[in-house]
Amino acid sequence: MSNDKSKSLFEKAKEYIPGGVNSPVRAFRAVGGNPLFMKRAKGAYLYDEDDQEYIDLINSWGPMILGHAHPVVEEAVKIALVNSPSFGAPTAREVEMAELICSIVPSVEKVRMVNSGTEATMSAIRVARGYTGRDKIIKMEGCYHGHGDSFLIAAGSGAMTFGTPDSPGVTKGTAKDTLIAPFNSISAVEKIIDENKNEIAAIILEPVVGNMGCVVPQPGYLQGLRTLCDKHSIVLIFDEVMTGFRLALGGAQELYNVKADMTTLGKIIGGGLPVGAYGGKKEIMDYVSPLGPIYQAGTLSGNPLAMAAGLAMLKYLKSNPAVYNQINQTTTKLVEGLRDQIAKAGQKFTINQVGSMFTLFFTDANVIDFDTAKTSDTQKFAIYFQSMLSQGIYLAPSQYEAMFISNAINNVEIDKILKASEQALRQIKA
Ligand SMILES: *Cc1c(COP(=O)(O)O)cnc(C)c1O
Repeated sequence: MSNDKSKSLFEKAKEYIPGGVNSPVRAFRAVGGNPLFMKRAKGAYLYDEDDQEYIDLINSWGPMILGHAHPVVEEAVKIALVNSPSFGAPTAREVEMAELICSIVPSVEKVRMVNSGTEATMSAIRVARGYTGRDKIIKMEGCYHGHGDSFLIAAGSGAMTFGTPDSPGVTKGTAKDTLIAPFNSISAVEKIIDENKNEIAAIILEPVVGNMGCVVPQPGYLQGLRTLCDKHSIVLIFDEVMTGFRLALGGAQELYNVKADMTTLGKIIGGGLPVGAYGGKKEIMDYVSPLGPIYQAGTLSGNPLAMAAGLAMLKYLKSNPAVYNQINQTTTKLVEGLRDQIAKAGQKFTINQVGSMFTLFFTDANVIDFDTAKTSDTQKFAIYFQSMLSQGIYLAPSQYEAMFISNAINNVEIDKILKASEQALRQIKA
């Protein structure tokens, strides 16, 4: 197996791009080795610059739920392209998109399109703050909401105290308004609310976490947050950038039957193009400019190509609900196969799965929050990752990521993945 072209591209990239990549986790720092540069992809398969083939378990970190280069999305973009890629004026597609999102996500009555998940969450907390007239937000340890200043806060051991910035450049002033609770703990959130009476604007979380690996909400957790938010007039924000249109058409809210006040969306919503959205109750969204006083704007927001791709994707998913049964069953089959292998090898690893998202944690702990996720042996993960990669299986290059199954992955691919995994687990033991 030769990675010559990827290697030389990476050397050149490092001269002109910080770390050689436009998003840090792509650099393979957590697993070592050289990142692969991709040339094309079709269905379940990626092809790198050295023309090697990989089964893709990242699927662009979620968006490619129908596999790569799906004809429905491709056609829609082609049609939009010839009519000019951007006008900076309203278009019919934006109206159709907004109506479609409101029909799919029951808690969303009005929605604003943006260009990334980061923009969606940044805008959502601004609106929650403007609407409530309060400054502080609660976020859960280990949840990722994009790279907005307010979200780059690590809890450290001092959960429930004022946050400290996770990145230089985030000011202490910003960090002190972000309060951290462990995921799955209602009592921690209650305590923070008690200590900050009438000061909390919003609680934001990934209803099913993907960004510390896949972590499942315990029974009653989401409902418990809903009850607390109602009691204290706090805006409950579900960050469904990852889970939206994936765990069910209506996202985690549909799956767990809990409604958020505001929802942030991204990834699948753009069909592979850069799109995000935030929406929620009319009475909240009516605070957004030009109707209300809270400013938020975007030169390329609602971009015709992006809307065409996203609309094609969402319409396809809406009219083909069987996609969800298929990807969930495929994922369950893969996960059960992995569990069998792990048991046979006499190992005790943990697999968390919700629908078509899953993570194999190299720990025997029950992973329910950031602390338990961190018990994973990242060394073992790196060995597993490299072995899988060398056998043509492209996993997310970090222990703390979820894997995403597309409906282009079928029994043939599952068999190949399981075969490679058996070999990779042997490497760990050796
Ligand atoms: C990916 C992600 C984001 C950030 O979206 P970008 O498009 O990368 O800015 C925010 N929240 C969640 C839950 C995500 O998974």
